Amino acid sequence: MPALDGRTALVTGASSGIGLVTARALAAEGARLALGARRVERLEAALKELPGEGHMIGALDVTDTESSRSFVELAVGEFQKIDILVNNAGLALGRGAIAEGSDEDDLIMWETNVLGLLRITRLVLPHMEDWRGHIVNLGSWAGREAYAGGGMYVGSKTAVRALTYVLRKELVGRIRVTTVDPGMVGDTEFSDIRFRGDEEKKAGVYRGVRYLTPEDVADCILWAVTRPPHMVVDEIVVKPLQQASQDAIVRDTP
Ligand code: NAP
Repeated sequence: MPALDGRTALVTGASSGIGLVTARALAAEGARLALGARRVERLEAALKELPGEGHMIGALDVTDTESSRSFVELAVGEFQKIDILVNNAGLALGRGAIAEGSDEDDLIMWETNVLGLLRITRLVLPHMEDWRGHIVNLGSWAGREAYAGGGMYVGSKTAVRALTYVLRKELVGRIRVTTVDPGMVGDTEFSDIRFRGDEEKKAGVYRGVRYLTPEDVADCILWAVTRPPHMVVDEIVVKPLQQASQDAIVRDTP
């Protein structure tokens, strides 16, 4: 029997990258999914190719209280309860020094990566059963190592890690809480958004590195959520072999 047969999962930011591939992995293990993101047309395309049945999609902007509430209500109306929440929606904007940053970018990152994660968690928690519910937060290596140019992205992912620890203490004995913190992941839209379409800057990040793929990260998430109920995988930190830290990266020479 597939490991997640009879389980339901809500994935935020499921329209691309890690969220989309995680959705496929959870569905392949038998979970019924509620997929949310702002680009609904992407979700519609994803839905057509998902294994299994009974999945649902919906417009979701995690920075908007009303949008978040109606998406979670829709999912709960369909599934009654949520077993797995993957708080994946997130982004970075810019890679410059704090002195050169903007309030607008900082606010979007904070609203999405931190407040959005808390908002969705708060909405979903009443619909999780004890000894069955599992929250997986997408942190980042950026939440573990400050780097110049990391700005509010580092700040927001450090906050995600701290809030994961708070949640784990508040939910001990009831709901599992895991943070999955990847280093460099390619084949997602992360750097397109961060560098606002600047292909050269994006190429510079991944040059000569056999980076992690969204499949690698989805694999970690799937492993965490398929452990026996008494076992919590607190944290998974995963990086490419060629990345020890943000400033210790060994690149292949062409
Ligand atoms: P991605 O391909 O850009 O995916 C980001 C997802 O978040 C998209 O589906 C996007 O959907 C969604 N999203 C953004 N703002 C949203 C909002 N306000 N409301 C709802 N959904 C929103 O990037 P990714 O690399 O897969 O990133 C996924 C997560 O992994 C993020 O939390 C990121 O910080 C984390 N992460 C990434 C890396 C990396 O190197 N790529 C490393 C460590 C951690 P819409 O635009 O359609 O709303």
